[in-house]
Amino acid sequence: MQSFNYTGLPGRVIFGFGALDQVAEQIRLHGRRRALVLSTPQQIEDAKALAVRLGDLCVGVFGEAVMHTPVEVTDRAQSFAAEVGADCLVALGGGSTTGLGKAIALRTDLLQIVVPTTYAGSEATPILGETQGGLKTTQRGPKILPEVIIYDVDLTLGLPVDLSVTSGVNAIAHAVEGLYTQDANPIVSLIAEEGIRAIAGALPIIAADPQNREARSDALYGAWACGVVLGSVGMALHHKLCHTLGGTFDLPHAQTHTVILPHAVAYNAAAAPDAMARVARALGVADAAQGLYALALSLGAPTTLKALGMREQDLDRAADLASANPYWNPRAIERNAIRALLDDAYFGRPPAAPPPEVIHA
Ligand code: NAD
Repeated sequence: MQSFNYTGLPGRVIFGFGALDQVAEQIRLHGRRRALVLSTPQQIEDAKALAVRLGDLCVGVFGEAVMHTPVEVTDRAQSFAAEVGADCLVALGGGSTTGLGKAIALRTDLLQIVVPTTYAGSEATPILGETQGGLKTTQRGPKILPEVIIYDVDLTLGLPVDLSVTSGVNAIAHAVEGLYTQDANPIVSLIAEEGIRAIAGALPIIAADPQNREARSDALYGAWACGVVLGSVGMALHHKLCHTLGGTFDLPHAQTHTVILPHAVAYNAAAAPDAMARVARALGVADAAQGLYALALSLGAPTTLKALGMREQDLDRAADLASANPYWNPRAIERNAIRALLDDAYFGRPPAAPPPEVIHA
């Protein structure tokens, strides 16, 4: 075993069917009385229903969360929280809503209770990405990490199949990169492998039978595991590419992860053989990159950047941006190889076989 550093993240996790019932108890247990419920416009009815259930414990609903956490929305939400005298936040939704809660908490230190309804995993991380003036910046910090996560499997039964699949692969991406990151450690690697196994096993069942409670439970459990990995260790090329494609070219988050992952894994395969063996084992396949590509194809997920709205003439710039500021990756960042990777992802070719000799970072 190699030497490692490990810092555990604090937080309470409540998991189960009908767990939404426990939001009120958690508010009271933490000595709070005035919750502000957050959501996207698409989930505002669910947020209002939760507010009704909370009764006197809820002082308002703010339903304007959007992707990439724009600072203007956070400013409005923070003013509203002050106006209604909120003493805690209940974020009901996916990564966009969780992001808004984190952004308010960063500025106010209000207690966060997150009720996730996708598999993005943001609720388990001390990471916040915010956009201002078209620029996305990411930071980490203890105030950002939610104090309580309430996973209610029932809330995921209606997550549309296409979003379930892409969100699930987004979660798998956290675990895959956590297995080969510079600061990988044996405990987080166990969690990563378990997260991949749980989600990859559940997604085909969900695609065929979206109301399957056992598969929904497995997927949400896997999403938590993968979120823990993202929150605990650093990421590499795959997340950098997705951040660039989402931030600069406005591609959708989970779908971009789904298209890029097999190609990023193929790029790193020869430089991270142990991680690849663990990913392949968790997927039950012979080769990690090919297995991830086959999984996406079999689930009808997008496999081309073209279908996500990327323009072919922007691939050069994307390759430049993704190789501009050096960052750690198991295989050295080579601009031309990144450009080739993006080409494969643009056209949806199967991931490339690794070159016979790779340069290790
Ligand atoms: P999202 O939160 O944007 O949700 C996508 C859409 O699906 C929204 O309209 C939402 O209201 C709707 N939705 C969510 N759950 C639903 C359900 N159960 N049923 C029906 N509709 C539902 O998507 P996401 O992929 O969860 O989150 C993406 C965002 O999260 C990005 O901004 C990304 O950067 C961020 N993120 C951050 C971290 C982190 O650690 N900081 C991790 C992962 C993702």
